[in-house]
Amino acid sequence: MRYLFLSTLMLFFLPACLHTVAHAEPCLEITLTGTMGGPPAVNGLAGAGTLVRYGDSSNNCSDLLLQFDAGRGTIMRLSELGISPLQLDAVFITHMHSDHIEGLAGIMQYRWHFFGGPLDVVCSADIAAAKPPPGRTMSCAAYLDHMGDAFIESGEIAQRHIENRKRDPAGPASVASLNAVGLPLPDRPGTVVWQEGDVKVSAIASQHIPGHLSYRVDSPAGSVVIGGDAGNSTAKPPRANSTSATVELLAKNADVLVHSVMHPVFAPGAGSKFPPLAFYRQSTATDLGAMAQRAGVQHLMFTHLIPALGAESHGPFRLPSGPLKQVDFESAARAGGFTGHIHIGTDLKTLRLPWQSK
Ligand SMILES: [Zn+2]
Repeated sequence: MRYLFLSTLMLFFLPACLHTVAHAEPCLEITLTGTMGGPPAVNGLAGAGTLVRYGDSSNNCSDLLLQFDAGRGTIMRLSELGISPLQLDAVFITHMHSDHIEGLAGIMQYRWHFFGGPLDVVCSADIAAAKPPPGRTMSCAAYLDHMGDAFIESGEIAQRHIENRKRDPAGPASVASLNAVGLPLPDRPGTVVWQEGDVKVSAIASQHIPGHLSYRVDSPAGSVVIGGDAGNSTAKPPRANSTSATVELLAKNADVLVHSVMHPVFAPGAGSKFPPLAFYRQSTATDLGAMAQRAGVQHLMFTHLIPALGAESHGPFRLPSGPLKQVDFESAARAGGFTGHIHIGTDLKTLRLPWQSK
């Protein structure tokens, strides 16, 4: 009787299951986990970060979860997506600026506390910092080694280790599995730095501070480039534009380019006191529009907006003519000649590939 009941159930549900499997299409989903640019905090925006997830339509693109940069509050934004740090498969860091990495320590502490096991962290190998002064090193390895130091010194790590001896007394550093990308890299796309199944992540060196990397994810559902804070390798004008030639190569025919953006309103001489060095080492919205058009990109997704939307100032630097709106960034990108889709970043803005226009 029971057997008969089960057989009847299977007859009823099996066609439905097969139907679901047959229509599971690969998908790639890109979510901005933080869109704040630089050290200031404005309107509750989280620090820079992009979650790229790959899977298929039957599992909401959730076979692989890749986090690119992890600024302030990343763990909070992930929680709004229902994602815990234990679920991440790898973290990729563009560069050693606090607005891109200060949320990583929290992610790793969480993983350590709840026995998450090693997490791949991909970033550049040690490189001498710009001069002057000499003798400094930009070191992702040192950051990972020391990110739990305050909690070790405070006694917390030892105390929690005693509570549960499965926790490594070395603290969160013990769950970081460093994958250091040696520099220099070839100035052409194709250097694969991480791969899992059909998903391949490649990197290219780009200019901002020493050790800056930009990444590209290729998958059966599409491709996305994470430019980070890349700028032109010529530090200031005269130069053809403010964008990165290597990122342009990496972005060739990409479906999506996610990139930090600087609005021309902060250009030297335009009425703000924004530091020229900080302005020139980012890419402007207009030049990114032009670059995305040349590269054949379908979707240009701005993140790390400087200034933030609606902000009266960026840190101590006041906007000369009041807060900016989305349309100000969009029209700047259009002025550069971009004819594809423009997505102006706000926290948790999401784009799914294959793209379906509404
Ligand atoms: Zn930044």
